[in-house]
Amino acid sequence: MGVEAAACVLNFSSLAMRAIVVDSHVHRVAKRLGLIAATADAAHAYPPDGSGSDHWSSDDLFELHGLIKGLGQLVCEQETPQCGACPLKAQCPRIGVGHSADVLAWRGR
Ligand code: SF4
Repeated sequence: MGVEAAACVLNFSSLAMRAIVVDSHVHRVAKRLGLIAATADAAHAYPPDGSGSDHWSSDDLFELHGLIKGLGQLVCEQETPQCGACPLKAQCPRIGVGHSADVLAWRGR
């Protein structure tokens, strides 16, 4: 079983344990936001204890996964990130990545 599958079992099941699931969307967004190293592969994107801050409950981590995944699916897409419409653009060190119309409008000439 891989790290992602293990985290799914721990957090998504009735076990409801503290673990963050890093799928491809979460991995991509976390790298772009600078939450993990740009060179970190998905298996090494997990905090050492798998859950991050002690202040975050299993429900918090479940919600965090869903929110970041949704951002990755709807806004911070692999090929065409819509940075101009992104709610995190003010905090994102990678704003302008990709080739969307928003990105081209943002780039200096
Ligand atoms: S500003 Fe752009 S690169 Fe950064 S998280 Fe938002 S969509 Fe992704």
